[in-house]
Amino acid sequence: MADCLFCSIAAGDIPSDQVRSGERTYAFRDIAPVAPTHVLVVPRQHYRNAAELSREDPGLLAELVAEATSIADEAGLAGGYRLVFNTGQEGGQTVDHVHVHVLGGRTMTWPPG
Ligand code: AMP
Repeated sequence: MADCLFCSIAAGDIPSDQVRSGERTYAFRDIAPVAPTHVLVVPRQHYRNAAELSREDPGLLAELVAEATSIADEAGLAGGYRLVFNTGQEGGQTVDHVHVHVLGGRTMTWPPG
């Protein structure tokens, strides 16, 4: 989609710190990490958020989660990690292209802010 930051990153038009590159998904390091491991996994195709993706292509949503868990394994996060889909303005979503945050390398707190 034109003017979408994560579409441009997944297409390689905007540089990113790549972690994994798949046929339908792309993973890269967050530019403002909030944990020692902070990776974003996105579908190459544009979907606004997790709700839209789950309706339109649930298999691709499962691929995103599988990629996220592989990244956690590769990062050695055996002690645990957090997967986050911020959804909508009140959910803290700032980029309207669905992405899952993979957060780890420190003890997480609850509730989140
Ligand atoms: P969210 O607030 O859940 O929509 O997450 C968006 C995330 O994208 C934030 O954690 C930002 O730090 C991250 N971000 C924004 N621009 C970039 C970029 N160019 N490269 C990598 N991460 C980015």
